[in-house]
Amino acid sequence: MKLLIRGGRIIDPAQAMDKVTDILVINGKVETVANNIEAREGMKEIDAEGLIVCPGLIDVHTHLREPGQEHKETVFTGAAAAAAGGYTAVCAMPNTDPVADNQTVVSFVKQRGINAQLSRVYPIAAITKGSQGQELTEVGDLVGAGAVALSDDGQPVMNAAVMRRALEYTKLFSLPIVSHAEDKTLSAGGVMHEGEVSTRLGLSGIPALAEEVAVMRDILLAEATGGQLHLAHISTVGAVNLVRQAKLRGANITAEAAPHHFSLTHQAVDGYHTDTKVNPPLRTEADVEAVIKGLSEGTLDVIATDHAPHSMEEKDVEFDLAPFGLVGLETALALVVSKLIRPGHLNWTQAVTLLSTNPARIFKLPGGTLTPGSEADITIINPDLERTVTKELFKSKGRNTPFDGWKLQGWAEYTIVSGKIIFQRNSKEG
Ligand SMILES: [Zn+2]
Ligand SMILES: [Zn+2]
Repeated sequence: MKLLIRGGRIIDPAQAMDKVTDILVINGKVETVANNIEAREGMKEIDAEGLIVCPGLIDVHTHLREPGQEHKETVFTGAAAAAAGGYTAVCAMPNTDPVADNQTVVSFVKQRGINAQLSRVYPIAAITKGSQGQELTEVGDLVGAGAVALSDDGQPVMNAAVMRRALEYTKLFSLPIVSHAEDKTLSAGGVMHEGEVSTRLGLSGIPALAEEVAVMRDILLAEATGGQLHLAHISTVGAVNLVRQAKLRGANITAEAAPHHFSLTHQAVDGYHTDTKVNPPLRTEADVEAVIKGLSEGTLDVIATDHAPHSMEEKDVEFDLAPFGLVGLETALALVVSKLIRPGHLNWTQAVTLLSTNPARIFKLPGGTLTPGSEADITIINPDLERTVTKELFKSKGRNTPFDGWKLQGWAEYTIVSGKIIFQRNSKEG
């Protein structure tokens, strides 16, 4: 199988490349990146003139809901949503039912991902049994079954001694621990950001401190143990500052931010739209600016979606009762282009670094570069295409998006995994 991608602007930060040229894929691997590659018989050709060709996007924070909540999402529908969003790979969080705290569930998710033949699916396993925060899981077994990281996401590991042991123990496997940094004693009962809007709406608040106290604790534990800490969904000024200071001290930690945290503030909750109920919550204008600054200066290493599908029935209730989470796989890239690249906060090299190069490096995944010999996982982006977000067209089963009806620019035209086109934009849908 041969695929020739002609005349695109190839952006590959791993090899400091940003130039208009051709790329040839043979048998699922990048063969050559060079000018004027000759088309031969039996080659499929893609005309990428005016398009951006980059290593496939990798989402390190996706909730796929299978096993146990297939009405919200399955591995197949989640992988289809990923492909449509330009993602060639996703890391699946373990808060399924049952929790991915054992080899059986981890292997099941991995196999389902292989069967889907869409975006790659890498399971993340739980840090503690049942994600209950008490007893560590069998890390060796989980790694053997295909886990690429450990996380109790959805819940923090509240017990600092357990988190300390987890960070120590996983050093043997060079496995990242992904922290959902939230101090439950400070966030208890909260349903949105604690501030002027929560007061006005009469909703209980989650203070920025709930995140910052937990981020500080985890940074200290990571520095003390030398374990690999990756902080999920950083959303406040204080948390960005803590990560920046820790990195200046030389702490070996990484952190991510989600598109909704640089695109929306707590003002969006006005009207009690449950699609804006997310954890950590949408914050203030100053927090949004801090997240954007963190991404542009490299304090935050990764943009990850925290794609969290829920059914309409579950979200169509009082704000207090609705579950936390919104879907992000199919809008993330367009939000990056529209909210970060077009306003000049990031250039394309930085964006690709945050969406592909760094995720691959931190989670030690294949892809993340178009160096000859590497996996031909490639995303081709039309930076100028403008579309209106239409949740009815989502491949995800989740319709819980606050971005429905938004006009955004910059969408994936092709998503390619191992040299095979798994998504191609239908021109009728725009
Ligand atoms: Zn989380
Ligand atoms: Zn999450």
